[in-house]
Amino acid sequence: MPESPRADRCPGVLRPHEAADGAMVRIRVPGGQTTGTALRNLSRLAQTYGSGLLQLTSRASVQVRGLPAVVPEPFEDAVGRAGFLPSAAHERIRNVVASPLTGLSGGRADLRPLVARLDQALLAEPRLAELPGRFLFVLDDGRDDVAGLGGDLGYRALDAGRGELLVGERRRTRPVRLVEAAETLVALALRFLERRTEEWHVRQLHEPLVGGTEAALRTPTAPTPPGMVGDHLVVDVPLGLLGPTQVDAVQAAVGGGPVVVTPWRSLVLPYAAPAASTLEAVGLVTQPDHAWTLVSACVGAPWCSNGRADTQNLAAQLVAAGGAGRRTHLSGCERRCGAPSEPHADLVAPTRVDLAELLLTRA
Ligand code: SF4
Repeated sequence: MPESPRADRCPGVLRPHEAADGAMVRIRVPGGQTTGTALRNLSRLAQTYGSGLLQLTSRASVQVRGLPAVVPEPFEDAVGRAGFLPSAAHERIRNVVASPLTGLSGGRADLRPLVARLDQALLAEPRLAELPGRFLFVLDDGRDDVAGLGGDLGYRALDAGRGELLVGERRRTRPVRLVEAAETLVALALRFLERRTEEWHVRQLHEPLVGGTEAALRTPTAPTPPGMVGDHLVVDVPLGLLGPTQVDAVQAAVGGGPVVVTPWRSLVLPYAAPAASTLEAVGLVTQPDHAWTLVSACVGAPWCSNGRADTQNLAAQLVAAGGAGRRTHLSGCERRCGAPSEPHADLVAPTRVDLAELLLTRA
């Protein structure tokens, strides 16, 4: 049974989540599109007010943890000044995931302008502030890397100027023009709100949101591995945690230029291929065969009160021992936060000791 809409507890900057390690806020980054300067500004705020780390999420958002239980107003103001809080009412509904390499390499269309247009259109419609905080828009430039990530509404490019609408778990086969995509998605989101009773997602509605011919979504292609893509560099961020030194190295590599946060806890750094060794030296992963590319973990204990194991520490031990030889995700409880969408070994801690023993036998 879906939870009551009143129980929407998705965190935001102005609605922190109370975690075992302090308050945690989630900062939306539509399309993952940000800059080295903006990321460094956030890192400075995390150092001043929180744990000092930036945590990347599977929706290309950035979280700051370890904040005081009452999040200081100067922190919220500074997040706003850094450009991450354009609307208090809409902050939690700006959930837009886009193909991270769009406009840089491959794909059928450059969807970066659509990310900006959709974000502006969402902000401009007051009623959309009522969308659930977990409602997701996906914009796929035709390479099928994000179309199947469980979005509610989206666009999948067919060519440079046309694409298909993604509605729930289906794609509508009648093409729409790219220039009309943002407004069409906003209209569909409004229709969802009109039809919604207690549903969080489009796929939960009892009646289809739109008619017409539809087809199944394709399985997502594998995430782009770390390494060079032409002049660009993809770096994996172990455990999705970016420390101050790493953020400084990223900023040095791109200057004030663009950075793309991916939904796979990695970053795309345009034109930063020459900085690969510097970034590797601060613990970011630039090689596709690195053990960290196959190991992930939830936050776990002691950061999460549900955690029955220090999953991050165990993941680091697993990597230090050479990795698990296959995609592996460690969870501190049955919720399995952050588990990858692709097939993987699923290790859930029954007890702290059990998971450690399980790792030792597999390492
Ligand atoms: S899987 Fe469980 S222990 Fe891990 S972060 Fe989620 S709720 Fe916490």
